[in-house]
Amino acid sequence: MARKVGVYTRISRDDEGESLGVARQQQDCERLADLRSWQVVKTYEDNDVSAFKRNVVRDEFELMLKDLRAGLIDGIVAYDLDRLARQPRDLERLIEIFDERPRLEFATVTNDINLGSPDGRTMARIMVAFANKSSHDASRRIKRKHLELAQQGKDSGGPAPYGWRKDDRTKVDPVAAEAIRKAQREILAGVRIGTIRTRWQQQGLGNPRAGTKRMAHHHVEQILTSPRLVGYRTYRGEILLGEDGEPVKGNWERINTLEEWEAVCAAVAERKQKHPGKSLARKYLLSGIARCGLCKTKIRGQINGRWEPGSKATRYTYQCSVVNGGCGKVSRTGEPVDMLIAQLVLEEQRTRAAVTAVPGEQRWLREDELEQVTQDIAQLVEAERSKQITVATLLQLLPAKERLRDELKLERARFYKEQKQAEAKGDAANLTVEDFFALPIERQQEIVLHSLSAVIINPAGRGRRKFDPSLIEPVWR
Ligand SMILES: [Zn+2]
Repeated sequence: MARKVGVYTRISRDDEGESLGVARQQQDCERLADLRSWQVVKTYEDNDVSAFKRNVVRDEFELMLKDLRAGLIDGIVAYDLDRLARQPRDLERLIEIFDERPRLEFATVTNDINLGSPDGRTMARIMVAFANKSSHDASRRIKRKHLELAQQGKDSGGPAPYGWRKDDRTKVDPVAAEAIRKAQREILAGVRIGTIRTRWQQQGLGNPRAGTKRMAHHHVEQILTSPRLVGYRTYRGEILLGEDGEPVKGNWERINTLEEWEAVCAAVAERKQKHPGKSLARKYLLSGIARCGLCKTKIRGQINGRWEPGSKATRYTYQCSVVNGGCGKVSRTGEPVDMLIAQLVLEEQRTRAAVTAVPGEQRWLREDELEQVTQDIAQLVEAERSKQITVATLLQLLPAKERLRDELKLERARFYKEQKQAEAKGDAANLTVEDFFALPIERQQEIVLHSLSAVIINPAGRGRRKFDPSLIEPVWR
């Protein structure tokens, strides 16, 4: 007999004017239930209730939990995890019921998550935790509006950035633009940003803080390297890429040619490399590790450039980018890729730790070789001393032996240094996925690179919404 399931749908204010109404969610859920040979016996529909606001009671959600617990339905199909549970608290209540009734079914249209398995629960908890966190920054609706405008190349609101007219931020302010260009020429000639900052403060240029003439160093740098100078639209400090991997262009007048701007950015970046400071750019787990399945170029993470109903503004994408020399044809939503890779890598490291675990410290494998060559040298020296060989012969034979000995010693030092470093960093094999994502991103990347040399992201067909793990190809070391 077919399992009886309930379908949960929710309209959020974000869907306003979008096509992803309840009817569409309902249809997609029913199709999924069909695929699994489940029978949809009831529909729960919460209208325009934000799942991430703490104090809002979702009547139908509550009813569904009750029905689930009472055994009126044997499972749930929802459009996505977001709609179902935005608060970790709600998810835990759901998981509790799945604990009580182990054979319950669970499916969502957009993510492949099974609340019945421990891994699925971990995945769900992380996803809800991510979503919950981002929801609290600001209203999702406002953020989505901003992203939508950005994607259309429309300007954001607020005071005009330095270089453009205060009364019309699409028009260049000639005086400011000239000051920027002059400063850029100086940068290229080797002048430091700090020097330009001092001069600007004296001359009242730039955008000093209200009531003062003071400007922050990074503020001056930002003015001189802003992607806006060449018409690139940014979103949260990153160049926004369209679906084609090309930057989205804004509707304002430009101050630089691409060549001028790139030269200045390169000069500033080069200076920074010599004097490393903190980069303001956001980092993603697989930036520089992921590669495009078509052109094999390295892929970086980007704030999601694609606009589609049901997507969250806070999502990020691994996008093959024309800007970075790629084909621009491959992109994938970042979160499930990171989740998949984290799980695979941790699993592999657990397995490897179990296989290679030996009592005590691991020994360097060429210890015997080093001992041998050390003995050889001693014997040669002894042979010369006892007149078995001449000094000339000794000096012919010795250098090669000494070189080998020194190389081996160096290698041994390196080996033990790395072993010590690995110990100091703690054992990745015992990490849970949650532990992993709680680490600083640099550590996460190190752990991934320990197992993988790259992650190939293969192209997905057009219009495919669902994440397909088989298209993500880890390249093991
Ligand atoms: Zn590519």
